[in-house]
Amino acid sequence: MIKNLSHIGIAVKDLDEAIKMYESLGLTLDTTEEVPSQKLKVAFFTIGDTRIELLAATSEDSPIAKFIEKKGEGIQHIALGVDDLKAELQEKSDKGFQLIDKEPRPGAHGADIAFLHPKSTKGVLIELCKDKH
Ligand code: ZN
Repeated sequence: MIKNLSHIGIAVKDLDEAIKMYESLGLTLDTTEEVPSQKLKVAFFTIGDTRIELLAATSEDSPIAKFIEKKGEGIQHIALGVDDLKAELQEKSDKGFQLIDKEPRPGAHGADIAFLHPKSTKGVLIELCKDKH
């Protein structure tokens, strides 16, 4: 079952500069974290029940660096919160969605995550996310 809009992932070139921009917009920074497996740094802002996740590459071959090269800075994915990630992946696969991750993998914030391919979701990269809490 889809529970909520967990977060919106936004690709940025310079994390510190982007954090300042969102702070001046009126949001409060929660945490920053490095995700070495994805070669990126993330920053989270909580807004009510959802979050904004800023994503910045730490290496030129990071998926985020490639995204910015192709499309520029901006919204990179949306993440839907689920309670049972394995069951959701099976169900989405049965329904014909193309899975980028066939198995859950660790994401930022201690969450388990998996992506659906934008080819099967009208051009939107959708993350399914099982938050730690
Ligand atoms: Zn995400």
